Amino acid sequence: MERKNQLTIWYWVAVIGLLIGMQYYLLSSHVTTIPYSDFKTLLAAGKVTQATVSQGTINAQVDVTGTKDLLPAHEYQSLMSTPATSGPQMRQIVTDRVDDPQLTAELQAAHVRYSGAAESPWLRMLIGWVVPIALIVLLWSWLMRRGAGAGPGLMMGVGQSKAKLYTESKTGVRFADVAGIDEAKQELEEVVQFLRNPERFRGLGGKIPKGVLIVGAPGTGKTLLAKAVAGEAGVPFLSISGSEFVEMFVGVGAARVRDLFAQAQQRAPCIIFIDELDALGKARGISGITGNDEREQTLNQLLVQMDGFDSQSGVIILAATNRPEILDPALLRPGRFDRHVAIDRPDIKGREAILKVHAKNVVLSPEVDLAVVAAKTPGFAGADLANIVNEAALHAARENKKAVEPKDFDEAIDRVIAGLEKRNRVMNAKEKETVAYHEAGHAVVAENRAHADRVNKISIIPRGIGALGYTQQLPTEDRYLLKRSELLDRLDVLLGGRVAEELVYGDVSTGAQDDLQRATDMARHMVTQYGMSERLGQVAFDTMRSGPFLTVPQAPQQMNYSEETARIIDEEVGRLIKDAHDRVAQTLTEEREVLEALARLLLEKEVVDRASLDALLREHRNASSVAAAAAPSGELTPAAPLGPRARRSG
Ligand code: ADP
Ligand code: ZN
Repeated sequence: MERKNQLTIWYWVAVIGLLIGMQYYLLSSHVTTIPYSDFKTLLAAGKVTQATVSQGTINAQVDVTGTKDLLPAHEYQSLMSTPATSGPQMRQIVTDRVDDPQLTAELQAAHVRYSGAAESPWLRMLIGWVVPIALIVLLWSWLMRRGAGAGPGLMMGVGQSKAKLYTESKTGVRFADVAGIDEAKQELEEVVQFLRNPERFRGLGGKIPKGVLIVGAPGTGKTLLAKAVAGEAGVPFLSISGSEFVEMFVGVGAARVRDLFAQAQQRAPCIIFIDELDALGKARGISGITGNDEREQTLNQLLVQMDGFDSQSGVIILAATNRPEILDPALLRPGRFDRHVAIDRPDIKGREAILKVHAKNVVLSPEVDLAVVAAKTPGFAGADLANIVNEAALHAARENKKAVEPKDFDEAIDRVIAGLEKRNRVMNAKEKETVAYHEAGHAVVAENRAHADRVNKISIIPRGIGALGYTQQLPTEDRYLLKRSELLDRLDVLLGGRVAEELVYGDVSTGAQDDLQRATDMARHMVTQYGMSERLGQVAFDTMRSGPFLTVPQAPQQMNYSEETARIIDEEVGRLIKDAHDRVAQTLTEEREVLEALARLLLEKEVVDRASLDALLREHRNASSVAAAAAPSGELTPAAPLGPRARRSG
């Protein structure tokens, strides 16, 4: 609360400043205080027209014409600078009263209209202090009330709180806007039916879930789906994000939860949507470095509220997370989020459908085949695809085209995959050559392996940070299971870049680091998870525990095997890499001519597409004869989740 204190101090500085200012204004600005003697001079000169005599002071109205010589210069000036009163020459003065028995007689003699006032110091006090203080207190309490309503309020200087409850009476999203995730839609259909007609369900005694947890990778359309449920049912959609609760002061999050549920009860039937549930629903006790009282309180409040209301009331809570494994188990108990709907990254058909939804309002040239775009974007989530359509349209617009062409889509895919092109990034000739050989190495190996994905495009244009070039492979289908032979071929392709550098220069560059890392990871998975090592046999070692949607590697968990086994694992991983290295070296030595030709072509053109690659291969040899020789073998393994990256070799 350090910050709060500081801000409070500033608040009081401002208040005191304001008070002093008010005093100054009230008491001095339009009245000049002059010494009693000067007052007497003015009176004697007949300049005083009217006076109010009170206990301590005399307020008088003075005609300033011809008083210039009667008063000291500064006094005359300040008198003139005060606003005129009843006439242009009239000014108000005040003087402290001196015990002067003759005063009334003199006033009389000068024909001054005068009156006495039982002026109390109270009145001055009231005007000068009490009224402003009352005003300030009012202001303060008003701000406090706002503060309580919307998190730390204005006077804290932190602006509006981020935790906002978004209420949409009509989301306008329908199931038709959500493509490629039909199973999830089906599961939520029941919720829609209930919200449309709660009475009917109640009559039938149907059991309705209170909470549905939507689980899926970022950008797969969880929020969209929740909105579509509200849209289909025609009910209000109240949404709030879990991560926004947590930044607040202790107690505020819990209050928000109460408020949220109170509002929902009023608006029932309706949907409460809590995005990023994991941010507030992290298992208690495994919070980070600092104790997280606020989060726990908020979570507890959520649990209490969920238990406290009756699902028959027509309020359904949808929550989204991409990390279900870290949620507090209490959240998943019956009566809470006991229904789970999983959204996977879309498959090729799903991707095409999503692209169609987003391309609805885009003018496409007849050559554009969204199925082809879908084929080029394995591992992309809905949000990535929406982004691609948008980027493609922008690209077409920049080039003043009438319709979006396939080229624009290719450009958009490249952008999304590898970041913006940075053509102007300077690379010296030697570096460029190294990158050309490196990428050519990946490509040649890929073309020589029966189970490797076809090369779609090779580029040595530096993109984004880190990637100096890339070889894009186009899988012919989506894969969920990979055979050992396929994994080995992938391993070879990954090593292709590095081995090419070795062959050509007898040396390697740092550019192959990412490839090596991925090759090592893959080999380790083959040994420890898929039981693909002959020496260790069909055993899975639980070296890593990560959730199905977790892309960040987690800290290794406790080992459940001996040091001896660990050593063998390391040896086996090393052996897999070594064998792959030898195979690749052999291939590239045999294909040296193609490698050189491709590298030269790359240096010349910077980008080599499939057609040019085919032409080059045809010219030099018959690539397919070698590829046909390799034969598939035994076991099946689940494919690792493939993000857009997984298809590239950098
Ligand atoms: P999440 O909540 O899972 O992170 P969002 O629902 O916010 O993802 O998705 C972001 C955007 O991506 C959506 O607004 C939509 O434009 C697009 N999108 C994602 N999934 C789909 C889908 N299945 N169908 C159509 N558009 C989708
Ligand atoms: Zn590489």
